[in-house]
Amino acid sequence: MDFIDLKSQYAALRDNINARIQTVLDHGQYILGPEVKEMEAALIAYTGAKHCISVASGTEALLICLMALDLQPGDEVITSPFTFAATAEMIVLAGGVPVFVDIQPDTANIDPTLIEAAITAKTKAIMPVSLYGQVADMGAINAIAAKHGLAVIEDAAQSFGASYQGKKSCNLSTFGCTSFFPSKPLGCYGDGGAIFTSDDVLAQACREIRTHGQSQRYLHTRMGVGGRMDTLQCAVVLGKLDRFEWEVRRRLELGDAYKRKLQAAIPGVQLLAVREDRDCVWAQYTVFVNDREAVQARLKEAGVPTAVHYPRPLHHQPAYAKYSSPEACPHSIAAAQRVMSLPMSADLTDAQQGSVVAALAEALA
Ligand SMILES: *Cc1c(COP(=O)(O)O)cnc(C)c1O
Repeated sequence: MDFIDLKSQYAALRDNINARIQTVLDHGQYILGPEVKEMEAALIAYTGAKHCISVASGTEALLICLMALDLQPGDEVITSPFTFAATAEMIVLAGGVPVFVDIQPDTANIDPTLIEAAITAKTKAIMPVSLYGQVADMGAINAIAAKHGLAVIEDAAQSFGASYQGKKSCNLSTFGCTSFFPSKPLGCYGDGGAIFTSDDVLAQACREIRTHGQSQRYLHTRMGVGGRMDTLQCAVVLGKLDRFEWEVRRRLELGDAYKRKLQAAIPGVQLLAVREDRDCVWAQYTVFVNDREAVQARLKEAGVPTAVHYPRPLHHQPAYAKYSSPEACPHSIAAAQRVMSLPMSADLTDAQQGSVVAALAEALA
């Protein structure tokens, strides 16, 4: 069993993806070819955001947004410490200071009730992470941002396809940033990502920053990066979009089924909470366990791969420790000690899922 089954996905989409790639090889426009615009248009239609700017990765998407906000040295960006490093890493790379605010223990997303106390005169933006594929409390976060004149950047690397109050992730705030890393809910076959915004000026800034700050060819109006997504990777995403709706539905089904089966098999099992006004596309199907290493070893013996997202909160990482006291964010510290992700992908079969649940029940017994 694969932790994320990309082989079955390719088997189902093989003709489509191969034809898409062959088209690029035939026209030879490898950089900003027609598939780039076609993919951006398709993702605009999907999310409802006004603009989509494809970029080299999810990490690059975060960096380019922060550059578009014209972050000055010392400007603060509020985020969660319970995330992949790229979130805080790009804040620092853009010249900013990450300010860590703790998570809600049941959803593992940033706790909006703690945000206002962290706002200072230097705060420029709030960067919530839609962890595991569930959007944070974006309504509350947007209200705080509006009150204080801040931008909101959704790190939606794990949540493409998720819904929140009837709208799609990536179309909920100033910016939405997603990743097409192969194992994300919508992945390509290398690195890729996208920025979404409905602000015309910020969209234009992101487009310029993506290509070395050029407002026209060889006119460099601002600092930029080499941050384009290549045509071949856009072709792969287009090839996968044909059954993406089905994949999202299947992920939601599998998430519900995991919950049902785990609760039936393991009394007192502790699962992630999903709020009523949103869904979770389960980039990772993550549960809380005690004695994690032993449980993982037993599952491995039973042929069930697991992973940990993430074993340390960022303020306990050497590179980010200086931004916070080690005792801060206790819920993030506790979650990092107990989270464990189970195999999840749209092609996971009901039988495979059943054997994962049985193996976990056995491992915990
Ligand atoms: C994957 C991920 C990123 C980075 O995306 P890349 O495309 O790998 O650069 C950023 N933030 C979160 C929360 C992620 O899961």
